[in-house]
Amino acid sequence: MNPALGSTDRPLRVAIIGAGPSGFYTAAALAARKDIAVSIDLIDRLPTPYGLVRYGVAPDHPKIKDVVRVFEKLALDPRLRYLGNVEYGRDLRLADLRRHYDQIVFSVGGQSDRRLGIPGEDAENSLSSTAFVAWYSCHPDFLELPVVLDGSAAAVVGIGNVAIDVARILVRDPDELAKTDISDDSLAALRAGGPRDVYLLARRGPVQAKCSPAELKEMGHLAGVDLIVDPAELELDEASAAELAGDREAQKNFELLRALAERGPTGAPRRIHLRFLVSPAEVIAQDGRVCGLRVEKNRLVPGRSGLSAQGTGEFETLPVGLVVRAVGYRSLPLPEMPFDDRGGIIPNAGGRVLDPTSAAAIPALYVAGWVKRGPTGLIGSNKPDGLETAEAMLADLPLTQPAKEPERTALDATLAERGTRVVDFAAWQRLDRLEVERGKPHGRPRVKFGAVAEMLAALAETPAGAGPSSGH
Ligand SMILES: Cc1cc2nc3c(=O)[nH]c(=O)nc-3n(C[C@H](O)[C@H](O)[C@H](O)COP(=O)(O)OP(=O)(O)OC[C@H]3O[C@@H](n4cnc5c(N)ncnc54)[C@H](O)[C@@H]3O)c2cc1C
Repeated sequence: MNPALGSTDRPLRVAIIGAGPSGFYTAAALAARKDIAVSIDLIDRLPTPYGLVRYGVAPDHPKIKDVVRVFEKLALDPRLRYLGNVEYGRDLRLADLRRHYDQIVFSVGGQSDRRLGIPGEDAENSLSSTAFVAWYSCHPDFLELPVVLDGSAAAVVGIGNVAIDVARILVRDPDELAKTDISDDSLAALRAGGPRDVYLLARRGPVQAKCSPAELKEMGHLAGVDLIVDPAELELDEASAAELAGDREAQKNFELLRALAERGPTGAPRRIHLRFLVSPAEVIAQDGRVCGLRVEKNRLVPGRSGLSAQGTGEFETLPVGLVVRAVGYRSLPLPEMPFDDRGGIIPNAGGRVLDPTSAAAIPALYVAGWVKRGPTGLIGSNKPDGLETAEAMLADLPLTQPAKEPERTALDATLAERGTRVVDFAAWQRLDRLEVERGKPHGRPRVKFGAVAEMLAALAETPAGAGPSSGH
């Protein structure tokens, strides 16, 4: 009789596609179960792990990135392997995964963005926050993003935490940014022509703003920057006042906004203009490049979930040369996997992937993180999310069909046949140390490698055991 799946003689073989927070937290939840033997391959299309912790979390928020210590510890567990530079859809297809693994988790995050759906949106210098954030974070796919910073004002559409990150990076003193791991190209561009005025545009009113009080407070205390709030925009209608009364977060935000409005401008060299109750209507371009943003003023009306914005027919044009829309990330469909186009996620029930036609769970396929629940929540939100998926996987164990070629060496042979250059965790640690070394002379936490080819070349020049000896 064959040994049972999950026994020490036949550990459960799991592929987790995407080594961002949700991939790591799912792996952690599986590894935490002492009664089940697991062997996990954590696979990422980039040589570098940690997803948006490396390529999303703002460079001037280094403490938040410390969460990687937890992930690092897990990656050194012998039951887990990290396989970087391996892309699902390019290096591995679904049939390969089914041949080599008993269960497969997709935790690929949100690689794209939601659009505004307005004329002119594709003009030069009208960008998504997905692209803009990836550009200043030195993501290999966005190194060549055409961003023109020529001192013109900028509009950032949205007032969530990502919008606030973008606005803050745009106006923050470049000398302060020079102490972070921001990409060299974006730092140089910001030094040369960063905007003096940034308009941060919210569709609804101050009570409905979805940013966290901490982010708002930080933006109000940036050196050399005035956060300008028009007191008239803080006058609440009855419905907003009622909403405010029952929402602690909104109250904190509102108190901060009121204090800022009372303080007024202090004559600082750069300004963030917080504008409520406006929606972008058209990106205006000249010779193909943004030269303004036409916005429509809104009023609040009762909607399906709380108050929603309704256009008033009154328009205004903001004189901006850059528009960054920060209205949400979005997952992309994966080859051979179902996709819910409306929700921008892989259809699932508690992490089990569903067949869109029958609504039945597809055996052995699971999801975690942003591609499971949509692009919301902090890094820590992926922990209970990953646990839920892991519990579904383990509950399904009695019904799980064992893979035909579960050995690690069998997967390695498949990748070798395809000429894939796998970057394992030891190689990533070498890259990590090299980046930290590059940062030291400049008082920076690291200077990131950009292109994947550059990372692979650096690894080839620094074979195992030959790299700098101390980590960060
Ligand atoms: C701009 C921004 C700032 C943020 N700031 C904060 C913050 O300050 N604090 C906080 O707590 N949270 C923050 N968050 C939220 C946090 O980053 C997310 O909750 C979290 O990263 C989502 O995790 P995930 O694993 O689902 O996706 P991701 O982090 O996106 O990870 C997905 C991984 O999958 C890989 N991948 C994609 N496609 C494939 C494929 N085909 N094959 C193999 N691998 C693939 C990607 O390379 C990536 O490594 C921020 C988010 C953004 C966008």
